[in-house]
Amino acid sequence: MDYSGLVKSKRLPRTTFLPFAVPHITQAEIDEVVDTLRSGWLTTGPKTKRFEREFAQRVGAPYALALNSGTAAMHLALDAIGLQSGDEVIVPVYTFTATAEVAVYYRARPVFVDVDPVTCNLDPAQLEKRITSRTRAIMVVHIAGLPAEVDAIHAIAKEHGLPVIEDAAHAFPAKYRGQMIGTTSDLTAFSFYATKALTTGEGGMLTTANPEYAERATMMALHGINRDAWKRYTAEGSWYYETITRDEFIQELTKANIGSSVHFIPLHLHPFYRDTYQLVAEDFPAAMHAYRRVISLPIYPGMTDEDVEDVIAAVERIIGAHKK
Ligand SMILES: *Cc1c(COP(=O)(O)O)cnc(C)c1O
Repeated sequence: MDYSGLVKSKRLPRTTFLPFAVPHITQAEIDEVVDTLRSGWLTTGPKTKRFEREFAQRVGAPYALALNSGTAAMHLALDAIGLQSGDEVIVPVYTFTATAEVAVYYRARPVFVDVDPVTCNLDPAQLEKRITSRTRAIMVVHIAGLPAEVDAIHAIAKEHGLPVIEDAAHAFPAKYRGQMIGTTSDLTAFSFYATKALTTGEGGMLTTANPEYAERATMMALHGINRDAWKRYTAEGSWYYETITRDEFIQELTKANIGSSVHFIPLHLHPFYRDTYQLVAEDFPAAMHAYRRVISLPIYPGMTDEDVEDVIAAVERIIGAHKK
């Protein structure tokens, strides 16, 4: 990367801390929650149905099923396609653990594929060699909301008769070649976790155009899904999920009062996947390259222009100070 165009900012460092993520909650949301509490209908009810209807309209999907998490949406997507123990599911190695973890729920095996070094999305050129006679589905993740190469992935999926499931946790709203994410594959899972672009605290949505998938997922959702409370951030507010080295850049951002995070630690480095499937760091060089360099910066509706300027200035300052 050429940073020569960056000048050291004259902006002074912030004096107050800018958190990595702040949910956008206005009086309208508070009023809706109070109204719900007073209505006595706390679980899936009329408001959930309205959310499903409006979400389906917004992405243009025939069916949308609201769930308690994006993970539950992927879990039910794999149920809908009939995943069985011993099957294999293709998963890009650069993602949150949930994308692979749902295959493990079925005692199926997540088979990792390396990513494009620039976009960090599944590299279609590396996909085909990972497909075997046991492969039952291909998972696609749209990292940071930038859609993956859906057409190229579908071409390969079609050749092998495989359904494609999108993990669109970052991708609401997003378009791929003019088409809304949520309508581009067999099933799509969205997340409304606290740090996502649209949040319900915890929550998810599954969209599909297939009435059989929709019917099956709706029925299975009624039985409820007990998700482990994944603790994503340590008490100190640090970004890491497993014990690994800290990045100096992040330390300096923190010193400059700018919150940040890292998305993601490639799955083959997690002790569970590493040990269960005997993987080593060098197995996925592009993901490793990206992982060593990425930082997620604050981006949410509650940020003022001043906040944005502070983030830019801090990044420029750090890069400037470390430029060789
Ligand atoms: C947040 C996230 C999920 C999980 O969503 P939950 O709603 O918390 O279950 C899955 N995949 C990716 C890529 C995510 O960032």
